[in-house]
Order: sequence, then structure tokens, then C-alpha cells
Amino acid sequence: MTINETHDAEIASWVASANEPESDFPIQNLPFAVFRRAGSNESFRGGVAIGDQIVDLARVAQIGLFSGLTQKALEQCAGAFLNGFMAMGEEAWSAVRLALSRALRTGAMQEQALAEALVPQAEAEYDVPAQIGDYTDFYTSVYHATNIGRQFRPDNPLTPNYKWVPIGYHGRVSSIGVSGQSFPRPVGQSLAPGAIQPDFGPCKRLDYELELGIFVGQGNEQGKQIPIDTVEEHIFGICLLNDWSARDIQGWEYQPLGPFLSKNFATTISPWIVTLEALLPYRVPFVRPESDPQPLAYLDSIAQRAAGAIDLQLEVSLETEAMRRSDLPPTVLTQTSYRHAYWTAGQLVAHHTVNGCNLRPGDLFGSGTLSGPTLDEAGALIELTVGGKQPVHVSPDEARTFLEDGDTVIIRGWCEKQGNARIGFGECRGTVLPARI
Ligand code: CA
Repeated sequence: MTINETHDAEIASWVASANEPESDFPIQNLPFAVFRRAGSNESFRGGVAIGDQIVDLARVAQIGLFSGLTQKALEQCAGAFLNGFMAMGEEAWSAVRLALSRALRTGAMQEQALAEALVPQAEAEYDVPAQIGDYTDFYTSVYHATNIGRQFRPDNPLTPNYKWVPIGYHGRVSSIGVSGQSFPRPVGQSLAPGAIQPDFGPCKRLDYELELGIFVGQGNEQGKQIPIDTVEEHIFGICLLNDWSARDIQGWEYQPLGPFLSKNFATTISPWIVTLEALLPYRVPFVRPESDPQPLAYLDSIAQRAAGAIDLQLEVSLETEAMRRSDLPPTVLTQTSYRHAYWTAGQLVAHHTVNGCNLRPGDLFGSGTLSGPTLDEAGALIELTVGGKQPVHVSPDEARTFLEDGDTVIIRGWCEKQGNARIGFGECRGTVLPARI
């Protein structure tokens, strides 16, 4: 995959809202989602964002505006899940991107036909864009691993395997929801400091985790690993992800087998998946401090070193119920970049399959909490509040150590670089409801 005409910052769209400098969805982005008109009985189907509109891919496939591989790929986007399209591989993904980029440009011949396939985003609702077979959550920020390790194991914050192995655990798919998700505060066991027996009740230390979701495109045969040189052909794209976490439940249950009920009650993702091709201009070198172990050969390549990381800006905001009542805007808690990750998305694919494990189209990886090098770049409240000891002020009248009922957490992401368009991910929003007990 190389930079091509679809990335050209000079091209504009006949969809005027796409040309506004603050739009997340200029013609250089073209991310994929699954949508329908809100409150309707329509079937969910694939769509591509352009400005404040959605190109209805089922409609485009039906009109027969394109032919060959592009038409075949669009037919795979006409249903409620994008797995079939993800399975087609990067030639098909690129063909659709190029065809839509040309047809959406100012002066394009297809303007009139394509205009009939637009649905305003303001009238749409979304669903999880793929039938996710398996979900794996990684742990790729060394800053997060150190900060949180200090809370759980003050003497041994970073376990000795961390700098050699991309750490992960197998997560739960059934509770993954799309932006707008709300869920009751989890209930469970926790051990108060100094106590001999656990308490049972609503979680008292509910937290968010700022993460990215990585959707697998083409999978691999069981027993056949994906070599590091071809890993990126297996990544369809990236979305925003919030791995809601019950810290008190986690602290009591996580040894010896890792997180379980502290993580599996809800995970929220953004509806839009930005393709790896759209992210090409924002790639940056993957670097390790020289004093750290360098990746083993199966996790190392010239291409990964040259441009394995992505400079993707991330931001977490909080909106409380009191803020909503007073019409106050959400408060920004954190800003950081994905470029600080200790392991790249490609290394996660190579590692996940090195033992012969098979990935399938539509599988999802969580990046792990993406805390940056300084504490104000931390991707979770447990870090920002130093384990709940230092409340953060979220409005003149309110502070938080952990999340309260009615709190809405909003994650945003975008890429910008001199000489290139600014492209965004939309938002990933979720709300905590009172416990049901
Ligand atoms: Ca996580």
C-alpha cells in the first residue's frame, strides 16, 4: 500500500460539509460503518462517511454505479456486517476507496446518481460493524503498565516479560456495543484494604480505558503464522474503544488468571472504522529506547521500524449529569497519541498467530490503555487520580476519583500532519447507569 491520489490534500468533494476544515470526514478519510435511519425498521447496511453524510453502500451496490471488483466488494457491504468485505483483502478495500474518492470529487460525473444514496448522519443510528468472532485485549502502553502495576504491585510494577511479549488476554464479545451504549454499574466481589473477607455490592471504583480497536481483515489458517512482513495486509482498520473497568473487582479477582468480571460487562467502540490505507500519511517510526530489549526477530522488520507506529491524536472527555443539566460542555481529561505505544498493531498480529492461532475476518483487538509518557496523558482515572487518592476537578463544583452514575465518557481521535488533510474517527461515547441490585 502506498500514498496515492486518494490522500491528496488538494482534492475537494461536492458534498460541501466534507470540505470544512474541522470535519472528521473529508474525502481523504472515507471510513466504514454499519447504519440505518434512526428509529426505522430498515436493515442495517454498510456506509462510508463523507462530511456530515453517509454514502449508503447497499444503495450504491443496487444502482450498479461501479463494476468489476468494486461492485463485488460493494455487494459485500450491503448487509448488516462487514465481515465479507473485510475477508476480501486490501485490493478490494482499495478499489472501493478509489472509486468513492473519484465519484465524490468536485465535478465527478457520478454526482447526481450518488447524491441519491446519501443519508444525513444526523438521521442515522449505528451498530457494531462486524460479527466479531473473537476479541483480544492487549496491554501496549509501557506507561500504563507501569502506572497501573504500581497500584496493584508497588514492589514490582512492570513484570519482567513486559518488554519481550505483547501481553494480552482473551476478552468477551457479547457485551461489545457501539457508541451511545449505556450499561448498569457492575456488581461483584471486592476486598477492601486490610479486610480479611470480600464485600459484595456495586463497583466503587469504576473506570474507563482509552484504547483503539483494530479490526482484522483477512485471517490465517490454523497452524500457519502471519509473518511480520505481511501483517498489515491482515489489518482492515482502526476504531476508538473504551474498555470499561471495575478496579475494585479487578484487584480481587485478577490473580492468577487475569481480568474476568472486572472487564466483561461492557466495551464500547466507535461506529466508524478508519482504514489502514487512510492512515498511511500519519505513520511514524517505531522506536525503542536503546537500553530496552529489542523485539525478537518474529516481531521485527525494516518496515515496522520505519513506519510501524501511527501518530493518532486521542482525547478523553467527561460529561456528568450535573454538567448536562447546566448545559456545560464536557471537560477534557486527557490528550495523548497512539505513537507512544510499546508494540505496534502489526506486532500484535504477528504475535497473536506465532503459535498457530488462527485469526478470522472481523476479529477485534483492543490496543490496551494508551497512556502517554506523562501523567496528564494517562488513559484511565486510576492513573490520573493516582489510585483514587488525588481527585481531578471536572467542573467548578465537581471532582472525580472514579466514575459516578450518569457520567458519560467521550473518546475522540484524529490525525493531522502538515501538507495532509486532517482526518477524524468521530466519537466513542458511553454512559454509566445505576447498578441493578
Ligand atoms: Ca484494557
